[in-house]
Amino acid sequence: MKKLFFTPGPSALYFTAEEHIKQALKEQVPSISHRGKDFQKIFASAVENIKVLLNIPDDFHIFFTGSANEIWERLIENCVEHESFHLVNGAFSKRFHQVSHELGRNALALNSPHGTCASIEEILVPETSELIATTQNETSTGVMQPLQDMYTLRSRYPEKLLAVDTVSALPYADIDYTMVDSVYFSVQKGFGLPAGLGVWILNERCIEKANKLRSKGRSTGSYHSISSLLEKAGKNQTPETPNVLGMYLLSKVAADMIEKGITQIRKETEYKAAILYNMLEAHSLLDPFVKEKQHRSKTVIVAETKKTSSEIIGKVAETGMVIGTGYGSFKEDHIRIANFPTHSKEQMEMLVDFLEGLN
Ligand SMILES: *Cc1c(COP(=O)(O)O)cnc(C)c1O
Repeated sequence: MKKLFFTPGPSALYFTAEEHIKQALKEQVPSISHRGKDFQKIFASAVENIKVLLNIPDDFHIFFTGSANEIWERLIENCVEHESFHLVNGAFSKRFHQVSHELGRNALALNSPHGTCASIEEILVPETSELIATTQNETSTGVMQPLQDMYTLRSRYPEKLLAVDTVSALPYADIDYTMVDSVYFSVQKGFGLPAGLGVWILNERCIEKANKLRSKGRSTGSYHSISSLLEKAGKNQTPETPNVLGMYLLSKVAADMIEKGITQIRKETEYKAAILYNMLEAHSLLDPFVKEKQHRSKTVIVAETKKTSSEIIGKVAETGMVIGTGYGSFKEDHIRIANFPTHSKEQMEMLVDFLEGLN
């Protein structure tokens, strides 16, 4: 039986991905040279389609990496000389904080209890911090920090760089890019593609910061330093032999999403999130983990379970649907459900109906 994955990453492939993979093989995409014209076209079209889909201003740069984990490392290497400040509201934001520490920076954190995020009033960033690292959608706990909070931080601390982890939020998140400096995602979540490609969106301020560090003789890394990525991107190329197939698929799926309409995708996401949360609130075994409604993620829905999560996940699995376990220490206490663009309204209604009947 073909399974239907509602896991929060990797997840179900976008419904057009299989056709694009077949077409890519027909066109022998994995064998083309990454220094040839055909590759440059793929690169340019991936950048163009991402910019159009997400409404990214022209003066932003888009770089490709191996993962979002890699972007954490590159952000610290290129944009932080001494100190970074992290809003930590779960396992992913915590990991980014740790990366900064491992790279020898003074990594500060404002830790919020699980299932919550810091309120804008309590966020006080020291003068000395160069970068504010935020996570818009914390995939481990299902907490969503409102975008307005990010914009408030940017206005409050205009000298600092603001980085936003949107790995499990895009393409749903409707970001005002003029109010952020760096945004990033990887493709195995909301874009419904095979893992192994990170997308780094950044502005001129990040480039300037990296140049400043270089001019001071600081290391900004090697093949994926901002300067190296920038130089190659200017030629629609990458420093290394990249995930060409992943970039091809991203350009195609982004084009499909443009055609469907981002407004429609966002509306459907909100509808599906609403029926999920309504079901959870009425359920005798399940409860939304995030209590504050305005901090509930629309794209990764996390529920506390009164029975072990494996029991619930096992029953759901009998229908061919796969939902996620809790993250880390919450493994047996939570279930996590992805609500990505590939999950149709009908599929989500089917999952909601099934969960509703569990007792
Ligand atoms: C999955 C995830 C990451 C890590 O992505 P990789 O592609 O595995 O590096 C980072 N941040 C968040 C919020 C995530 O959900």
